[in-house]
Amino acid sequence: MRKVIAALAALVLLAPLVGLVSVGLLMNPATVSCAAPAGGFQVGEVPEELTATTRNGETITLGRAELTHAATIIETGSGIEGVGRDGILIALMAALTESRMRMLANTSAYPESGDYPNEGNGSDNDSLGLFQMRPQAGWGTVAELMDPDYQAAAFYGGPGGPNEGSPRGLLDIPGWEQMGKGEAAQAVEVSAYPERYDNYEPVAEQILTTLTSTGAGGPVTADPVPVLAAGPVVESSRVVFPLPEGTWVATSPFGPRTHPITGEEESFHTGADFSAPDGTPILAAADGTVTVSEFSGGYGGLVVIEHQIDGGKVATAYAHSWEDGIHVQAGDQVRAGQHIADVGSSGMSTGPHLHFEVRQGGTDGEYIDPAKWLNDHDAADLPEADVPPAGSEDCDTGAGASGDPVPVEGDPDELVDDPTSCTDPDRC
Ligand SMILES: [Zn+2]
Repeated sequence: MRKVIAALAALVLLAPLVGLVSVGLLMNPATVSCAAPAGGFQVGEVPEELTATTRNGETITLGRAELTHAATIIETGSGIEGVGRDGILIALMAALTESRMRMLANTSAYPESGDYPNEGNGSDNDSLGLFQMRPQAGWGTVAELMDPDYQAAAFYGGPGGPNEGSPRGLLDIPGWEQMGKGEAAQAVEVSAYPERYDNYEPVAEQILTTLTSTGAGGPVTADPVPVLAAGPVVESSRVVFPLPEGTWVATSPFGPRTHPITGEEESFHTGADFSAPDGTPILAAADGTVTVSEFSGGYGGLVVIEHQIDGGKVATAYAHSWEDGIHVQAGDQVRAGQHIADVGSSGMSTGPHLHFEVRQGGTDGEYIDPAKWLNDHDAADLPEADVPPAGSEDCDTGAGASGDPVPVEGDPDELVDDPTSCTDPDRC
């Protein structure tokens, strides 16, 4: 299979515009069957699709392209001494978590990455490919990282790996065999959320079993749960806190307050504020679809994500990022815990912090207490606001100004409170 992929890569380099078509035509089951080294796993026929359920109960379906990448990860791991079944599962869990097993280009960071075969465009920093490896972090060049074989080899690392232990692959992590699988994946990925990886362990197990059992072929559905129709809103069952653990302090809760900048007494704070250092990663609170990604007005940088949770629509909003600290675009599908933006202090803000809103019903829905929502979904243990919901769906934020962010005087060390408020007492 490596030869096939190498040939593909060469073909695509010569003719980038036909790359995606070539992948579709060439990746038929017959071409991806090949022998594994003695003692390793032998990958059989790659099925059209595979449906599996995560630990959190989310059903996901992987297609031929994703399963072909999984086969690459299994075969690469099989050929490296010391990886074993656990190491392969860890690699599958990491790729499922980081990219849903897709080779993701990143054309905003590296326009040329779009010239290589890919299953989508990511936008997290300068991350590329299956394992979301960053050229700037030393993982490899764009050309190397857009090659699934290279990414798999870099993830496993070890003496034969391409990076010679820096950055560290799995085999370069001392004691990885004794760690939990999610913890080991996290040690390689240097991510804030080990439990994100553990969520995909049942899926990784099913992929490994399916691809390495003889006679596999055709659609495989090991779970009786019906496949959810692919739609613009992804059903999400998991909620995470929007900032990494240990980086934040709650500074201003949801509800009525005296406006910290205008001094107006009957203003209503539409979200909850969490002070955090400039540049701290902001994480998507749940799986969903980005509906707003803009830089203007009182919010400054603003990302809004719509989620389907508990059968209903809800949106979360993340404000005050700097313009270059917004890493997603409207229409992007994001996962719980995905790095979507960085903490900043743009718009009506006096110091670096995240202004976090929850809107019941969707992007233009009603503001509800984010602390209570996070608590109710086991993502936080915060004091809850002792007030009824804001109740106005037209409640604007800030001074209503749009366009350039409004500069605000204030000592960032003293006043990290957030003036993103509804300022019209008749409407809030
Ligand atoms: Zn705020």
